[in-house]
Amino acid sequence: MARTTRRQIMLSGIAALAAPLISRGAEAQQVRHIVVTRANVAQPYMGLTFDDGPHPSLTPLLLDTLAMRGVRATFFLVGRNAARYPQIVQRIAAEGHEIGNHTWSHPSLLGWSDGGVLSEIDRTSDAIAAATGSPPALFRPPYGNFTQRQAMMLYEARGMPTILWSVDTLDWQRPGSGVIAHRMVQGATPGAVILAHDIQGPTVRAVPLALDGIEARGMHGAQVSELIGYPRWRAEGLRVASR
Ligand SMILES: [Zn+2]
Repeated sequence: MARTTRRQIMLSGIAALAAPLISRGAEAQQVRHIVVTRANVAQPYMGLTFDDGPHPSLTPLLLDTLAMRGVRATFFLVGRNAARYPQIVQRIAAEGHEIGNHTWSHPSLLGWSDGGVLSEIDRTSDAIAAATGSPPALFRPPYGNFTQRQAMMLYEARGMPTILWSVDTLDWQRPGSGVIAHRMVQGATPGAVILAHDIQGPTVRAVPLALDGIEARGMHGAQVSELIGYPRWRAEGLRVASR
């Protein structure tokens, strides 16, 4: 099946399932987020997400930058890397960033059995919990390769929503830090979920420049769970839209 077709299937699911973001009350509690590409949020908040780490030197460098700028991000960790660098995993959590599950060995999960999928995810959640004390709430499939049925299966089996992205920096092509920073800034619109990789040197070196541009647009970085209000709403730092 073509990638576009899969994405369209997922997007059709999102239209029905994703929540209006900064809404509160009982209806907001009942909304299920099963597949998310972006948040429906009017406020100037967006999410920077970094996949495939932790990397032994680049992830700490990125954490230094984020701490200096007071920005929180979301890290979708590969389980085998998390198991190898538990002290970095612990630091990511300790510094207020969100950690998501990005499978143990980074396979394309299309065509996998449900048991195989859950095994990749559970092993990763265990490694993250061993380092941080808590299992991650969010899942991102490698390459975005996950069917709507698999996303439903994961949500029902583990309560984990599948988080895709609305802006792809294509940083794995290593186009240079200036280009990556420009793509991040251009993509930084309310509710955007921006995909990048903290295992890429040019990406990590692009972040200070990107944050300059993002701040100049009046935008602020937030964790994905803050953007979508899952699994719990963290209201600090976010303002409710006037009605
Ligand atoms: Zn990945």
